[in-house]
Amino acid sequence: ASSEIPKTMSGVVIEKPGDVSVLAYKTDLPVPEIKKGEVLVKNEYIGVNYIDTYFRTGLYPSSSGYPLITGKEASGTVVASNSPRFSVGDRVAYLSESTYAEYTTVSASRVVGPLPEKISSATAAAALLQGLTALTFVREAAGIEQKLGISEGPWTLVHAAAGGTGSLLVQILSVMGAKIIATAGGKEKCEQARCHGAQWTIDSTRENVVERVKEITNGKGVDVIFDGVGKATFDADLEIIARKGLIVSFGNASGKVDPLDILRLGAKNVKVMRPVLFGYIVTPEEWERWTTELFDLIKSEKVKIKVHEVYPLKDVARAHTDLEGRKTTGKLLLKV
Ligand code: NDP
Repeated sequence: ASSEIPKTMSGVVIEKPGDVSVLAYKTDLPVPEIKKGEVLVKNEYIGVNYIDTYFRTGLYPSSSGYPLITGKEASGTVVASNSPRFSVGDRVAYLSESTYAEYTTVSASRVVGPLPEKISSATAAAALLQGLTALTFVREAAGIEQKLGISEGPWTLVHAAAGGTGSLLVQILSVMGAKIIATAGGKEKCEQARCHGAQWTIDSTRENVVERVKEITNGKGVDVIFDGVGKATFDADLEIIARKGLIVSFGNASGKVDPLDILRLGAKNVKVMRPVLFGYIVTPEEWERWTTELFDLIKSEKVKIKVHEVYPLKDVARAHTDLEGRKTTGKLLLKV
């Protein structure tokens, strides 16, 4: 089944890795064709994620080579379907490759929908990737629930806590009743982290994170650290982690963490893991479980989605510049 579909579309193409100048907005790209089990979505909102900058710079190599249409998530309307699960006209959100475009083909197994009326297309595109990341990392990677059952519950720390993923980590940890220390760059970002449920905040641009954590935890350190900043914070993580603690290192906003001398973990019996969202949403059951749980949290307003700015798709370079320049809080969206 399909509705009227044009032959060409607009989108953003990267010819070779580089700075934001390699993001080329074009209006004559071919509309992709769907294969078995796929749907074609006319995108409305496209989520910007830090990972998009890694594919742009080449920190993560593109498996399909270049030219590349980057982007990992979007929301919109199904305009053609080769799957019994979705019909033309369904409003959906999804994870896929090549979302910085007017149309994207998606495996039906990575689509959520039809979206409930209560969830706008902007919220859905803003929530999916970072929300699933926060949820699976808190529950599956860190196993916070089990840890909450033990004595006073764990100390947790979230870096870049006013960012897209950070603000969701804080809210989800808060819903679960954890003790949360948030680090963020600046007074306003710290204020936001506090509104999302962090009981303690540290302004990483003015304060000494190691000293402040020692103060707050009475010298014990934190039991679980969620670190998407990477290179700039990893050494401090090893100082502030408590004995038997877990460092969930999941990103490279400041660069890739330097190679680790494994002997450094012995001093406090520390665990380090480097999870990737896509490894937690492999089976249909996993996809169903985590997307249902995420959308329930949003519908019940236990988790709120804050959009920093909606940029026109052709202004994608400004969106990347703002994200990499630490100028944003919450989620950046592109509008087709
Ligand atoms: P954010 O909205 O969190 O933006 C990045 C933030 O990182 C900035 O706002 C800034 O906050 C902080 N930061 C610290 N140092 C730097 C620096 N040198 N340059 C730029 N930013 C810096 O982005 P996302 O939520 O999209 O992603 C956050 C992290 O999570 C990224 O590393 C990303 O790769 C990772 N991620 C990993 C996933 C996985 O599966 N492993 C899935 C999703 C995200 P401040 O000013 O407060 O320090």
